[in-house]
Amino acid sequence: MSKHIFVTGGVVSSLGKGLTSASIGLLLERRGLTVRMQKLDPYINVDPGTMNPYEHGEVYVLDDGSETDLDLGHYERFTNSPLSKHSNYTTGKIYLSVISKEREGQYLGKTVQVVPHITDEIKAAIRSLAADDVDVVITELGGTVGDIEGLPFLEAIRQMPMDVGRENCLFIHLTLVPYLKAAGALKTKPTQHSVGQLRQIGIQPDILVVRTERPLGAENIAKIALFCNVERRAVIEEMDKSFSIYEVPEGLVERGLDQLIVDKLGLRAGPLMLDDWRNMLRELRNPQHEVTIAVVGKYIEHRDAYKSIYEALTHAGIAHSTRVVTKRIEAERLDREDPELLLKGVDGVLVPGGFGMRGIEGKIQAVRYARECEIPFLGICLGMQCAVIEFARNVLGLADANSTEFVSDTEHPVICLLEEQKNVTAKGATMRLGAQPCVLREDSTAAACYGTTQISERHRHRYEFNNEYRQLFEQAGMIAAGTSPDGSLVECVELSGHPWFVAVQFHPEFKSKPLSPHPLFKGFVGAALHHRLQRAGVSV
Ligand code: GLN
Repeated sequence: MSKHIFVTGGVVSSLGKGLTSASIGLLLERRGLTVRMQKLDPYINVDPGTMNPYEHGEVYVLDDGSETDLDLGHYERFTNSPLSKHSNYTTGKIYLSVISKEREGQYLGKTVQVVPHITDEIKAAIRSLAADDVDVVITELGGTVGDIEGLPFLEAIRQMPMDVGRENCLFIHLTLVPYLKAAGALKTKPTQHSVGQLRQIGIQPDILVVRTERPLGAENIAKIALFCNVERRAVIEEMDKSFSIYEVPEGLVERGLDQLIVDKLGLRAGPLMLDDWRNMLRELRNPQHEVTIAVVGKYIEHRDAYKSIYEALTHAGIAHSTRVVTKRIEAERLDREDPELLLKGVDGVLVPGGFGMRGIEGKIQAVRYARECEIPFLGICLGMQCAVIEFARNVLGLADANSTEFVSDTEHPVICLLEEQKNVTAKGATMRLGAQPCVLREDSTAAACYGTTQISERHRHRYEFNNEYRQLFEQAGMIAAGTSPDGSLVECVELSGHPWFVAVQFHPEFKSKPLSPHPLFKGFVGAALHHRLQRAGVSV
């Protein structure tokens, strides 16, 4: 029978619950256990797919096409837990299911209520990951204790011990102990209040993970333990990690968290095997080289809007013993300012995915600069579409080439709506989503990166390369390097004669991990390093 860990948060949001949950998942896996990961989000959207990145950061896409919270990206980067639509539930998704059942008459005339119907539905969502071959299901609850919308979820996890046994459940609560400069001291009161609120709901946390910028010290630990009714060894200090998120697991091991969980849940675990992770961190800390990659996007000022892209670049850097510095450029600036001023000296240009017109012309300028100056270029989704538009305008001479997403009656619709999208009007979960097979040309740069011509990558788009222009493009040097197996959809384009220019309709960033960098990112950062060394006059 699977055991359950519930991770809640208090005091403030953005405490890193997702990273802590992912780290716990990693540590348990590295003790030989099988883990499943899940996030419950109390907001009402059915999934984050309809949300603006400014609201919520990146939308993370799974193989099965689910559009999910970006914490699931951490889960995939840290653990081997397979993720699916069962890995992310929102209030909207829970209610949608309950209301559909009510309309079908499944509640047999009963009054449908938050308790028990909504809470039962939440518990079913949690249990959907439990299985004979799963040792631990880790369920992270979004938001903070005290949020009105989080209450049904807290009530559901409060009930779980009654269903599966208290000894099979572990409640981990993440809190903050702030340092008050004026008082010159760390303050434990917010943590006490937060745990007090949990206990009012009926949840006594077993372990407190305490975020702090200064060491807690024995006195504060004793105080927290006493007031919050937890053992002293269960007060786990989690200091801020300024260098890398991949340091979080080590810090938790130093505080004994993995052993504590194993003891409290009575898990049959092996010794901790973390050598490859530690080697990866060593590489990350001691790079031999550095490259600067310009990321030209529309949501640059939002720290999390391109989360997986920044992570994938870091992973690729590890593979080349290279620190990757990102120069994050607001695309609209390139509409107005000379690209030379903003892009001169960068070793690679990356244009990520996106939606809508704003910043498009700037992205096109960035592509042009990379193409003409022979700087390594990686285009992703909208980034590929911009590369196609740029080539059409500036090489093929189709001056007003565009995507029909931006100008519906453009004379040269080099990017147009996917056939399957033509009758779609609803916005939620209706794009071309999730893993799709792709066949690469044998002589392509992409095939050289992957080491194979058969790949599968995740998608999230409505528009595609317009095949009517394919021949024209290929004759002029922009090659369809990858297509859907039937050849109908162009999934990857490359420029012949350019040192490294690859643009893809899919999102490779979602499949990169620190221990297995994505082949395209690895190829791209390798090319950027080559470019840098060549420019510096180092023979390569
Ligand atoms: N807006 C484009 C489309 O829908 C690109 C989407 C994306 O970059 N994810 O096709």
